[in-house]
Amino acid sequence: MKRTFVTDFDGTVTNEDAGAALLRSHGHDSWVFWDWCVRIGCLSLPAAQELQWRGVSADRDVLAESARNSMFLRSGFRGFVDRVRAAGDDLLIVSSGFRFYIEAILGDLAKVLPIVANDLHDSDGGKRIAWVDRRYWCAVHRPCKAVVAQRLLNHSVVALGDGLSDLCLLRSSVPLYAVRGSLLEKRGRRIGREGLSSFDTFDTVSRAEWAYVNP
Ligand SMILES: [Zn+2]
Repeated sequence: MKRTFVTDFDGTVTNEDAGAALLRSHGHDSWVFWDWCVRIGCLSLPAAQELQWRGVSADRDVLAESARNSMFLRSGFRGFVDRVRAAGDDLLIVSSGFRFYIEAILGDLAKVLPIVANDLHDSDGGKRIAWVDRRYWCAVHRPCKAVVAQRLLNHSVVALGDGLSDLCLLRSSVPLYAVRGSLLEKRGRRIGREGLSSFDTFDTVSRAEWAYVNP
């Protein structure tokens, strides 16, 4: 059966949350408050994103350039992409963030990797969010990785993530890689989630998945 690696982007493919970094440098100070509201469960992530991004006045091109210049891919990611493709498997990026900065940070890799994410448009001196197809939503995530994984019916799914937007994966049964030290890893360990592995670089994932190629 074809395998599909479903990976989160911010903090998983990258070392740092690019959306948060852009809000830190270009957003209104209140973004921190809305972020806190999400963390304690008072506000959904999409509702917070609407509030955080609508007043961001910097053009999207400026934001993309900023992301391109300040964000790095987690170590081993390019090699991981090569191994996935050599094995005939798929790698799908699923993000609650925005396509424009994901493509900017991925550079040439954006041409070969499918991305399920939201779009952000310049609008009246601020920003307007165009949400991903609602087939991929759950009650709290747009898109939800667990919903996307469930929809890949004829594929064997392996998921990778780190944070709040990945927590639904803990209730699914797919093999799951969580960034070492992340919220996802801590919650997963606390509930004894089966099939949970920790990783810090993508070399760790490559070695675990293709041990016969690179012992
Ligand atoms: Zn969800």
